Amino acid sequence: MEELVGHCTICGKEIYCENGFFDGEQKDGELYCHECVGMEE
Ligand SMILES: [Zn+2]
Repeated sequence: MEELVGHCTICGKEIYCENGFFDGEQKDGELYCHECVGMEE
């Protein structure tokens, strides 16, 4: 089961929750995809 959680704050990519696995990161109430979260450091 796939559930749309929201959009990445930086690139706008759709972020889904698959079977309870969150396909991204949440920081300070904002959503980020894995690509953008990796760029931040
Ligand atoms: Zn992104």
